Amino acid sequence: MKHLAGDKQKLITALSVLLSLGFVITSFASYFVSKETIRQSIIRDELPLTADNIYSEIQKDLVRPTFISSMMASDTFLRDWVIAGEKDVGQITKYLDEIKKRYDTFASFYVSEQTHNYYYPQGILKQISTEDAHDVWYYRVRAMKQPYEISVDTDQSNRDALTIFINYHVYDYAEKFLGVAGIGLTVDAVRKLIDSYQERYNRIVYFVDLKGDVALYSNHQTSPGDNIRRIAGLRAQADTILKNQSGSYQDKRDGRVHLLNVRFSPELDWYLFVEKMEDEALAEIKRTLYMNLALCGLVTLVVLTLTNITINRYQRRLEEMATTDKLTGLANRQACELFADQAVKLARRNQEPLSAILIDIDHFKQVNDRYGHLAGDAVIKHLAETIQGCLRESDFLCRWGGEEYLLLMKGCDLNRAQIIAEHIRTTVKETPIDHAGQSIPITVSLGVAEHRDEESNTLMFGRADQALYRAKESGRDRVCTAD
Ligand code: GH3
Ligand code: MG
Ligand code: MG
Repeated sequence: MKHLAGDKQKLITALSVLLSLGFVITSFASYFVSKETIRQSIIRDELPLTADNIYSEIQKDLVRPTFISSMMASDTFLRDWVIAGEKDVGQITKYLDEIKKRYDTFASFYVSEQTHNYYYPQGILKQISTEDAHDVWYYRVRAMKQPYEISVDTDQSNRDALTIFINYHVYDYAEKFLGVAGIGLTVDAVRKLIDSYQERYNRIVYFVDLKGDVALYSNHQTSPGDNIRRIAGLRAQADTILKNQSGSYQDKRDGRVHLLNVRFSPELDWYLFVEKMEDEALAEIKRTLYMNLALCGLVTLVVLTLTNITINRYQRRLEEMATTDKLTGLANRQACELFADQAVKLARRNQEPLSAILIDIDHFKQVNDRYGHLAGDAVIKHLAETIQGCLRESDFLCRWGGEEYLLLMKGCDLNRAQIIAEHIRTTVKETPIDHAGQSIPITVSLGVAEHRDEESNTLMFGRADQALYRAKESGRDRVCTAD
């Protein structure tokens, strides 16, 4: 039985290892495959597509201000006023104020080539000069071949706030350069645009200038860093990113993988950075993995429980078959010997008496001959019940052999065993067995022995057998005790 239990343990262990291993390997394999597919689709399609979308939205959002500036540049009032000698400053400030209010821009301005005056809605802001670092932009715009530029600069008329300017060349009717007109958008307005892109596309969006400084980021996000050369994950790739102008990258920051797409905007001279955290994209399949693993664990548990139940059932049936006599339902000889071993040990330890009675049906051959084997079987079965009816719960009756029974009685000395044997003998005699309408009279002979100190159960059974032999010899249907 121990051997069987060990085998069962081994089977259960092997089964659980195989099942768990199989489930875990397939779950993780499918997780890694999906992970790679998702990662690739983010890098190859999703991020570039989002970057493209945001890029084209920025273009679109800059079209209106560019249009307003172009309108100013070709405005006959502005040009006539300049050609006429910039006499009434009130007129130009009213005009600029009107533009600012009507189009809800942040700033509107005109810088004159003739007078070097910088006009804004409140009047003349300053006189620009080549000496002033703030005015470098004007000389750059003047030298430009193209009619306008979009540039990001600080606004002197508004406490040096970062502003996106659309600077447009203004010419007279003979194509002579008159100055530069245009409007400014606050960076805050562009920030709001970034917020909306971020929200719509669920990405991190920010702009980086030519030097690698983070120029603009969302209101709702902390800055990714002041310069990409100082952002831990980007440091090593910073030069490549700035040199390549556009591309896909990935890096690790604070243990999280960032997937990045970069596009350069020549209008702004800024790089558009669109990022996505890999773990956010993978959260869904990670949840699926955990669900899978939990489900696999459950299936493993159910399979193991079912296996265990089935094995236990078969084991019990095997044990039963190995220890029970089929005809009478009593314990068989093998079980009896095991029981007797324990009973002897217990009797020794507790200093209690233990007795054995061997019971054999008299002239059973004749029963078989006269009534047939089936009747013989019925006699063996019914007799077991008759004897059982004479016993206490602690008494142990087994089928010892063909038509022989062995009775073990704990806490029972020779005298008491003899009385019980006698009781069995008379009860059997007085209880003929009914079979197929026939009454079969039966007698039994009994040999009684009490366990002696240090005696093995085999020896005790031997002495009971000798007593039984004597009972048979002396005429049957009687009880003999061992010496
Ligand atoms: P005795 O009084 O000396 O015991 O005579 P007996 O005829 O009973 O002799 P013995 O005990 O030697 O014979 C036992 C017989 O019981 C032999 C066998 O044919 C029969 N027998 C043993 N087992 C079974 C059984 O399971 N069913 C039937 N029907 N007969 C059995
Ligand atoms: Mg016999
Ligand atoms: Mg017999």
